[in-house]
Amino acid sequence: MRIAIAGGSIAGLSAALTLDCMGHDVCVFERSTQGLRGRGGGVVVLRHMLRFLENHGKTTREMISVPTRRRRSLDHEGNVVHDEPEILPFSSWDAVYRSLCALLPADGIQYGRKLQRFEQDTDGVDLFFDDGTHERTDVLIAADGTASRLRTQLFPDYQSAFAGYIAWRGVVDESAFPPAAVNGLAENFTLYQQPGELFMAFLIPALDGSLEPGKRRFNWLWYRNESDTTALQRHLTDRFGRQHHASIIAGEMATESAAELNQLAKACLPDVLAQLVLATKTPFIQAIHDALSPAFSSGRVALVGDAACTLRPHTGSGTSKAADDAVSLASMLTPFTSNVAETLAAWAVERRESIAQLVAKGPRLAAHFGLDNNSETGPA
Ligand SMILES: Cc1cc2nc3c(=O)[nH]c(=O)nc-3n(C[C@H](O)[C@H](O)[C@H](O)COP(=O)(O)OP(=O)(O)OC[C@H]3O[C@@H](n4cnc5c(N)ncnc54)[C@H](O)[C@@H]3O)c2cc1C
Repeated sequence: MRIAIAGGSIAGLSAALTLDCMGHDVCVFERSTQGLRGRGGGVVVLRHMLRFLENHGKTTREMISVPTRRRRSLDHEGNVVHDEPEILPFSSWDAVYRSLCALLPADGIQYGRKLQRFEQDTDGVDLFFDDGTHERTDVLIAADGTASRLRTQLFPDYQSAFAGYIAWRGVVDESAFPPAAVNGLAENFTLYQQPGELFMAFLIPALDGSLEPGKRRFNWLWYRNESDTTALQRHLTDRFGRQHHASIIAGEMATESAAELNQLAKACLPDVLAQLVLATKTPFIQAIHDALSPAFSSGRVALVGDAACTLRPHTGSGTSKAADDAVSLASMLTPFTSNVAETLAAWAVERRESIAQLVAKGPRLAAHFGLDNNSETGPA
């Protein structure tokens, strides 16, 4: 089957890889003109994906992890107030992204191709790109993220919902600090919690995948309730004055927002954590949204990753869910599939049911951390 995938991030590349393993003719259309390298922070290790790839004779040593040994909570003075063993293998977005790209055929991703809309009939799907070009395919996979344009085309009345809090995020080299200054942070999962906010920090591999002490990077996330819509709009306006739906990528945050972040860090965080924020050259921001598509398929179109369902980030499972979407889809959509729409519909129902617990876990965890749960249309 010829399968087109809209969106060349983790969900799209995962689907491309698993469907390619099944022998389909797959092409990813990604709107950005270059790769997405260097964008993300830490993610959990994709166990099912690694197993699937191994079963199909593909091994990758790049989706590596930095095991964190303990979970520790700090008070405002930086004292450890809670400490328990916890092995949480982490990888980095870049390591996962790089591995997926490397495993795909060289001509498998077309950059600078933004899918504008599609039309489908019983035999296939017509794709219309914003540069005026057109393609015909057997199946279309929507992997275009939480603000999915394709989901909107399928379900125009559905909208994702702001959950009531934002995440300031950053990645900073371990080598930016004298070892003594970050001694307690290395190889531990560190938390700092106050009403309406939660700070987390842990190590992730270097950009080249290195796990060597001194070459690794700290990944930090600072969730904060944001009920002020004017402030939210301000933070989601980049340094070029462009307003974004849910995130500003690293390097594009407005100077005023970056300054506000630094001020907040100095005022609110223990010094050992504030130093991570202050040393971060290109912080980024994400407004936390809930999205659960009314269905995960319609005819010959299937939705995966954040386009299908955007989980709360503290479930730590957005990336692994995207990879699991890809594995389960490829397991059902084989080259022997005779009725594509029926197969996709069966997959969609099964997949939507199987993530119900994860969907419910997000708001529960947010409540536990004292974060808002404003979402009215989200999967509460
Ligand atoms: C604050 C925060 C923290 C997180 N932390 C974690 C974590 O610790 N662990 C974890 O596993 N997950 C985490 N996640 C979730 C994770 O980032 C995503 O769930 C996962 O990467 C899947 O994303 P995706 O590929 O579906 O969408 P995206 O990464 O949003 O990619 C969508 C892609 O589609 C492209 N695109 C969009 N529209 C079009 C179009 N019309 N045509 C062509 N291309 C298009 C975009 O350019 C983009 O490349 C976190 C998320 C947030 C917000």
